[in-house]
This record gives sequence, structure tokens and C-alpha cells, in this order.
Amino acid sequence: MKKKPRSIVIVGGGTAGWMAANSLLTSWGDKVNITLVESEDIGIIGVGEGSTPYLKQYFTSLGIAESEWMPACDATYKAGISFPDWSTQAGYESYFHPFFSELDLKPAELFFHNSGLRRRGKEVDALPDHYFVSSQLIALNRSPVPKITLPFDVDYGYHFDSAKLGRFLKARALKLGLTHVIGHVESVETSISGHITSVNIGSQPSRSADFFIDCSGFAGLLVNKTLGLTFNSYKESLFNDAAVAMPTPLDLGGEIPAQTVSRALTNGWSWKIPLTSRWGNGYVFSSDFISPDNAETELRAQLGLLDADIEARHLKMRIGRLNEHWHKNCLAVGLSQGFIEPLEATALMLIQFTIERFISSFDDESKSIESTQIAYNKDLNRTFDGVRDYVVAHYKLNTRTDSRYWQACREDAITPDSLANLIATWDSGGDFEKALKQQQDNLVYLRPSWYCIFSGMGRFPSNTIKDPQSVPALKAKEYCYKIANEYFLNHKAQLDKVYLR
Ligand SMILES: Cc1cc2nc3c(=O)[nH]c(=O)nc-3n(C[C@H](O)[C@H](O)[C@H](O)COP(=O)(O)OP(=O)(O)OC[C@H]3O[C@@H](n4cnc5c(N)ncnc54)[C@H](O)[C@@H]3O)c2cc1C
Repeated sequence: MKKKPRSIVIVGGGTAGWMAANSLLTSWGDKVNITLVESEDIGIIGVGEGSTPYLKQYFTSLGIAESEWMPACDATYKAGISFPDWSTQAGYESYFHPFFSELDLKPAELFFHNSGLRRRGKEVDALPDHYFVSSQLIALNRSPVPKITLPFDVDYGYHFDSAKLGRFLKARALKLGLTHVIGHVESVETSISGHITSVNIGSQPSRSADFFIDCSGFAGLLVNKTLGLTFNSYKESLFNDAAVAMPTPLDLGGEIPAQTVSRALTNGWSWKIPLTSRWGNGYVFSSDFISPDNAETELRAQLGLLDADIEARHLKMRIGRLNEHWHKNCLAVGLSQGFIEPLEATALMLIQFTIERFISSFDDESKSIESTQIAYNKDLNRTFDGVRDYVVAHYKLNTRTDSRYWQACREDAITPDSLANLIATWDSGGDFEKALKQQQDNLVYLRPSWYCIFSGMGRFPSNTIKDPQSVPALKAKEYCYKIANEYFLNHKAQLDKVYLR
């Protein structure tokens, strides 16, 4: 029989620590005592400004309205991610990966149909941008929040200032009764059975608890340094291990696009994220192929800031995951448990999943703790690997020839089996629907996302013939345009509405 922990110490006050604290306090209330210890000497990673639609559910589960948290975090809406320069195929040099909803059902079916024809060498337009409402929202500078109540949810994500999000969540956790300790954990005590018993914080009293959550970032203080848990690196499939970040001012008076732009550069890719207060920019790259200095220069050149004295921040990234996220009385959440580079902005989603799945593990008290942990870790690993597969697909499908890096990403990076199977089926003109169904237990990304990435990169035979069965993309595009135009407000106007509420 397992029992919920009655006292928990969280080590780390980055986004992971504060998200975990809020979820636990909301779900378990005064049945649990939570202490969060964070070091003043080690800052937070301070990047992580884009989300998937899953974050919307996080705030809903905490009962926090957009009008409460968005203004506090300079947040904007996000309808999807645009991927320019990953492919050199004519007509497919840039594509948009949309967040989709039931509004897309009709045009998306045309997209799947036309993608299938195009795979078989028929001359039809299969660029995803022409078949999803989100793409038209971007073209029209609209927000992804519908003006009227629809009989279904419309998915969208957010952009936000991660330091401000941390502060917002911290204030809420303190109100809910969390004990906050500023101090550096210098050592960790364990019992003979290998359970953690307490953390020692310099000259302050040590903190003991039933349960410990490692939110110490890449340091992995509890899970790596203390428990020595195995880290499963993704380095053979994903080469990027560093980033350089540089905020820039927002052009006042200009529109705020509801999208992240992830542009391929010579040895990685850059992000451009709009907040209401500034742009977040950065370059994610592989230090095996370009030095941090050269990456910074390339990013500055791209931003037109070669001579500007805006400071750049350099970061290292550890890509991969633990094999056990929950071990004995310790759970790893956030960068300590693993990280898949930020191309699809999935880290907060994984944090949320980790903590929600942990909380719901205690719903059925009759299951043993051992079997619960085994099922939990299996589920988490499957989820991390599923996200990895989709991220690896971007690199495998690239067609750039301008650097050794892009060639190595295409040819030398190890392709996980489930992805290799999807690529082989797509390329051979085989039954892609069946391949997706066969692998549905391993996939995190759904059918539209897989069609978008293959079609968006122009992964098609080069010879084409005309086909009378094709549905002109224009019809789908007009349909999406009409919906975007009728049902959605200008992004800035929508933000004003939420910020002034
Ligand atoms: C380049 C880059 C871009 C990213 N972009 C995105 C994105 O767009 N979307 C997304 O969802 N995620 C993104 N992420 C990931 C995201 O930033 C993190 O997942 C998120 O911020 C959570 O970090 P964390 O809380 O685990 O770690 P951190 O922010 O590093 O926090 C670690 C905490 O542990 C504390 N600590 C460490 N050692 C000790 C000690 N000995 N004693 C006490 N305290 C200690 C530190 O003081 C700090 O409070 C990105 C990451 C990188 C590197």
C-alpha cells in the first residue's frame, strides 16, 4: 500500500520547482507540508519562453485566469511555430507547424489527401500553411483566441518571460502556505536503504522530509550527484548542446505576431519569440560544429546587431533523460530529469506531465509503490522518447547543403526505430495512416503534426505529373482565411482586452 507523502522538500526555484509546488499545493492542500530551497548563488536558467497548448490546462487546473497571469509575465498568445530555411525544396522553404482544433477538420482532410497524392508524384500543393486556420491567423495578425464561444476548445499556447512566470508562481505558492528557504544545499543525507533523509543548507538547520523533489536544473543535485541515477543521453540523435540568448527591444507600434519563428542557421537554429515587453532571441547550436563566439556573431548578424552592446548569455545543454524519474523517495522534475532541445518548446509540458502523473499515481492506494513507480517511469520514458522522435525528424528531413553540420544531422545522427519506420513508409509511398496507427503507443505528436513535418519540408519525389483528383489548395486556404477573419481578433487587441480585465 502506498501513502501520499506528508512532507516534501523541493530543491530548486526555477520554473520546474515553482510549477511543481503549485500543483502539489493545489491538489493536496494542507495534507502536505512543502518546503522549497533555492540557492542565491546559482541562478535559474532564465530561458524557456514558449509553450505548447498544454500550459493552458495547467493554469486552468490551478484556477488562474489569463487576465491574472498573462500581464504579470508579459505573455502573448502562440498559434504555432514557423520553420523557415530547414528545407531547400522549391515551394517548401518555410512551413508552419500549427496548433490545430476542430475548426481545421475539413481543410486538414484535404491536406492529408493532397499530401498522399504528392507523395505518389502527383502535382498538387501540399504545403501545410494552406490548410490550417492558425496559418491564416498569423497572416492576418490575429490571436488564436476565438471571439465567440465555440462548442469545442481551440488549442493555443503562450510566450512569456520565464523569470516573471517563476515570480508569479512563487507568490502564489507562498500564499498557499509553502515554506521558502534561501540557501545553498551543500550535502544530502541518505539512509542505508538509499532513501534521502535530509538536505544540509550551510549554517541553516538541515531540512528533512518524507519525500524530495529534485528541481535543481542541469546540476541534478539529488538524482545525479546523490543517487547516481543513470542518464540516458540523446546526443547520438540530437547534436545541439549549447545556446546563446539575446533579448532585443520590441519595435513600438508594430504588430505582435502570435508565433515563434525557428529559423535554421548554419549550425543549428534561432528562435524569435514575441513578448509584450521585448523579443526573446537565441541560437541553439552544436559546439562540435561551431564555437560559441562564432555562433554569437552569426546570431548578432542575423539580428542586425553586430555592433550593438546588447549582452549575450551563453548556455550549455544536457540532452537526454534519466531512466528513472521517480526513484525511492525522490522525484526529478525539469532539467534535472532531462531535456530535449527547445525546438518544439516542450520542456514545460514535460514538467507538467511529470508532476500531474505523479499526483495521480496516488489515486489508487491499493497498488504497491514498486509497481506504481515502474509504470510511472515507463510512461515518462515513453513520453520523453516520443517528443525526441518528433524533434529528431526536423534534423533528419532537412535538405540543407551549406554546412557539414546539416549533412551530419541528416546522415550521421542515429534515427530512433519508430521514426525510421515512419520515414521509410512515407518515402516508399506506403500506408502512412497504418504506420501511424501501429506506432500510436510510442508517438506523442499526432497525425496532423507528422503530416505537417513531412509535407512542410517538401519530402516528396521530384518528378510530378498533373492529377485531376487533387483539390486545389486555394479552396482550403480561402476557407481557413474566412474562419480566421470572422472569428478572431487582432492579437494586440486581444492582449489589450486580457491585460485590462
Ligand atoms: C536554450 C534553452 C531554451 C529553452 N526554451 C524553452 C522553451 O521555449 N519552452 C520550454 O518549455 N522550455 C524551454 N527551455 C527549458 C526551460 O527553460 C526549463 O525546462 C525550465 O526553465 C525549468 O528549468 P528548471 O527549473 O528545471 O531549472 P533552473 O531554472 O536551472 O533552476 C534550477 C534551480 O535549482 C537551484 N539549485 C541548483 N543547485 C542548488 C543547490 N545546490 N542548492 C539549492 N538550490 C540549487 C537554482 O538556484 C535554481 O533555483 C529552454 C532551455 C534552454 C536551455
